[in-house]
Amino acid sequence: MNQLSFIPLGGIGDVTKNMYLYEYNDQILIVDCGLGFADETMLGVDLLLPDVSYLLKTCLPKGVAKKKIVGMLLTHGHEDHIGALPFVLPQLSDFPIFATPLTAAFANEKLKDFNAKKRVETVNSNDNEKRIGSFSFSFIPVTHSVPDTSHIFIKTPVGNFYHGSDFKFDETPYDGKVSDYAKIARVSSNGVMCLLSDCLGAERKGKTPSEISLTTNFINEIRQCRGKFFVTTYSSNISRLNQIIEASEKNGRRVCFIGRSLIKAKDVARRLGYLNLKKDMEVAIDSLGNYQENKLTLIIAGSQGQENSAMTRLANGEHREVKLGEEDVVVFSSDPIPGNETSVYELVDTITRRGTKVIYAPVMRDFHVSGHASMDELEQLIKLVRPNKLIPIGGQFRHMFAYKKLAERLGYKKSDIFLMEDGQELLFSEKDIKYGRTIQVKNVYVDEMSGEELEGFVLRDRQKLSEAGIIVILAEVDSNNGQLVGNPDIIVRGFMYDVKRLSSRLTHDFRKTLGLRKGRVTNWIYVRKLIGETAERRIYKDLRRRPLVLPVVIEV
Ligand SMILES: [Zn+2]
Repeated sequence: MNQLSFIPLGGIGDVTKNMYLYEYNDQILIVDCGLGFADETMLGVDLLLPDVSYLLKTCLPKGVAKKKIVGMLLTHGHEDHIGALPFVLPQLSDFPIFATPLTAAFANEKLKDFNAKKRVETVNSNDNEKRIGSFSFSFIPVTHSVPDTSHIFIKTPVGNFYHGSDFKFDETPYDGKVSDYAKIARVSSNGVMCLLSDCLGAERKGKTPSEISLTTNFINEIRQCRGKFFVTTYSSNISRLNQIIEASEKNGRRVCFIGRSLIKAKDVARRLGYLNLKKDMEVAIDSLGNYQENKLTLIIAGSQGQENSAMTRLANGEHREVKLGEEDVVVFSSDPIPGNETSVYELVDTITRRGTKVIYAPVMRDFHVSGHASMDELEQLIKLVRPNKLIPIGGQFRHMFAYKKLAERLGYKKSDIFLMEDGQELLFSEKDIKYGRTIQVKNVYVDEMSGEELEGFVLRDRQKLSEAGIIVILAEVDSNNGQLVGNPDIIVRGFMYDVKRLSSRLTHDFRKTLGLRKGRVTNWIYVRKLIGETAERRIYKDLRRRPLVLPVVIEV
């Protein structure tokens, strides 16, 4: 049957880790491959990946595979749209990937970092329609908070799709490049079966303010600052970086970039001509001492309160090169990503305690505007595209719901708007649209530092650790007879206890357990397990707690 299946693997209901599949017969076209950001319940885990096990099952191994990935398209350079590439691509077969220049450059930088061989190919939004397999596509320039953002018009044998991920309609963007309204209307005049639309701003009335309003505010705030002027923002927000540079230049200040991600983004954007940074405007971190404090603007990474970021180290007085002073000002030019609120406000508190003035977005709207469309712009897109059906994407459920109400006000029927879940399939045929399979999608965690995927048990360990504490037991065992030597050392973190009492009871228990089996030790893993289990039993009996028990057995 002639039908197209649309499956979001991520990006529905949780904002981040965007990844969408368009499937026709045996061909799959992918849009975006983003990271998710862990929330406070996922202790110490930094990032989430979209679950691609469906692709692994259906598209691998080659030869016997039922389906084939024909290509991937990237809408823009934000982490939640390209960040999972280095983790996901090595698992999949080979296929071409397309993006506009800055998006491709950000993605390729990431792939290079992780030593992945694959590279993203560059397309320009005024290029002709391109064909891959049964699909053809063209990129449409729109405004957002990173330059070179696109919507994608996708033609399939069943009908046309308008993939309208993150955008706003800014009439005065910093780089002067407005959204291509004419192209949106032109491509859509072929008929659009379904519009997928950003919905994150669907609860906001009116129009999202323009980026341009911020430059003057930066100029004025910098003028009043008597010490160092710090700004923290997303590293991909190139327009914001340009505004800060301009405002600094006008006030005779030079700019220093602090933090690896930020320096990387700055270099890529500058190389491609997206960043207006004159050579003599920039100061390296090790030359800061050559300048008066009121001649410096420091753009620093870590606006989300990330534990290992430069901003967090600075706030805690642990940054080697830079210290916060009472004359300094820190501006958070970003909103907390949903789920990060607590860590961001903690960071704000820590800085304030040092006597430094902090200006942060939710309180002062003068230094940050959203990159997402509000109600008026969402309506405008619907009116330009005039789709038959609509799917809100890239928002949480309440945003999707608000979007549905908005479309209904424009005359759409309830049944025209689909509020989906990750892993749910929607089947489009010429006649009708219906829900199909539900594909299991689970959370895949990745540790930011090591880049390693974490199994669920690591997360459980960390949860246990935070709730019940940790106990480390260092026990010496004689390899000749398998018996305990001396008294074990016990280290407890995370709960109160009577160390002497617990220690002597554990020693007693270990002697008893190990005493049951005498003779040369052949299996040390088993001895470790015995010690661990014995300790867990005793701790639960005496303290009614289940901390994480880590037995360390030393062979003597
Ligand atoms: Zn975005």
